[in-house]
Amino acid sequence: MDQHSDEFEGLEQSSEFAAVPDAFQRLWTPHRMVYIQDGQQPHPDDCPFCLAPGMTDEKALIVARGKHAYVLLNLFPYNSGHLLVCPYRHIATYDEASPEEIAEIGSLTQVAMRVLKAVSHCDGFNIGMNQGRIAGAGIAGHLHQHIVPRWALDSNFFPIIAGTKAIPRLLGDVRREVAGGWPTDQS
Ligand SMILES: [Zn+2]
Repeated sequence: MDQHSDEFEGLEQSSEFAAVPDAFQRLWTPHRMVYIQDGQQPHPDDCPFCLAPGMTDEKALIVARGKHAYVLLNLFPYNSGHLLVCPYRHIATYDEASPEEIAEIGSLTQVAMRVLKAVSHCDGFNIGMNQGRIAGAGIAGHLHQHIVPRWALDSNFFPIIAGTKAIPRLLGDVRREVAGGWPTDQS
């Protein structure tokens, strides 16, 4: 332990970081920076939610594609199986969505819930949209609905797992599982 103490002496103390109140949030910061480059809202040309549909499902972590919207895994899951439903169009807020987009975001959300129930046996969901940076949207320029499956005990252990390097490997596995459970007659 003494050796470890010496090693840590040269490191910055978390208390010296601005706006980083605890170790848990600090864990997520490097991941979020993948999306929040330079603190700017992405131009549609380099918006991750505009670019994803042009990639393979595996690379973009897409689980289902509809006509007006699609479903992908969140790169920064609050929980395993954390999905996002995005319109293809680069619109920022819900009131800008067309009736067709609203309808399909809704139906894709329903299917996603059924699939997550079937493959992960979750006990509940948090579903919602953070709109605008002030409201917590990581990618405020492109509307996205969160679907977060919840298990009775998840808050006890998952943040520990989620904050580790296990996540990148798990995401591919989770995508395969959710996409595999997606009904073929519904997108
Ligand atoms: Zn976009």
